[in-house]
Amino acid sequence: MTAVLPNRPVSTSKTATGKSKEKSGGQSIPHVVIVGGGFGGLYAAKALGKVAVKVTLIDKRNFHLFQPLLYQVATGGLSAGDISSPLRAVLSKQKNVQVLMGEVTSIEPDDQCVVLKNGETLSYDSLIVATGSSHHYFGKDEWASIAPGLKMR
Ligand SMILES: Cc1cc2nc3c(=O)[nH]c(=O)nc-3n(C[C@H](O)[C@H](O)[C@H](O)COP(=O)(O)OP(=O)(O)OC[C@H]3O[C@@H](n4cnc5c(N)ncnc54)[C@H](O)[C@@H]3O)c2cc1C
Repeated sequence: MTAVLPNRPVSTSKTATGKSKEKSGGQSIPHVVIVGGGFGGLYAAKALGKVAVKVTLIDKRNFHLFQPLLYQVATGGLSAGDISSPLRAVLSKQKNVQVLMGEVTSIEPDDQCVVLKNGETLSYDSLIVATGSSHHYFGKDEWASIAPGLKMR
């Protein structure tokens, strides 16, 4: 499912390449799409807060996960909610950002769009990919059953 939270009225027009650009005072505003709402994606969105761009941050989850405290959740010292913050709440004061929930399954650089799991596409002028990383076993995949990773996929 993809959900949209418009933080301000959006009027769009199609460009020659089929891309949508928001109009502000008669001028087109570049659309920056950020994939991933971890540290990288959030800091990128915040850094663009006062820039004349429209930002769309998309994450497959609706929350930011503060990974450094995963160990405390795993050992029962904290609950999962203690280290999770809704992305929309984190960015609620930033007027040029929309937060979408959806999983990006493909990037189409020639068409300057990303494809979501539900089949929708999202056009961009600039794309920031901040999808993080996962644990690995340095070639010892047999360790996986006795040493499961902390991070959710
Ligand atoms: C247990 C643990 C302890 C740590 N402790 C520290 C520490 O003490 N100090 C420190 O500096 N660092 C620490 N780190 C490392 C730090 O947490 C990571 O470097 C940081 O979270 C990476 O940020 P990121 O934005 O690159 O990726 P992430 O935070 O992993 O964010 C990636 C985001 O992208 C989203 N995403 C992924 N794929 C898709 C997709 N296809 N479509 C849509 N969304 C997608 C995910 O849902 C996620 O929200 C720790 C990490 C772990 C796991």
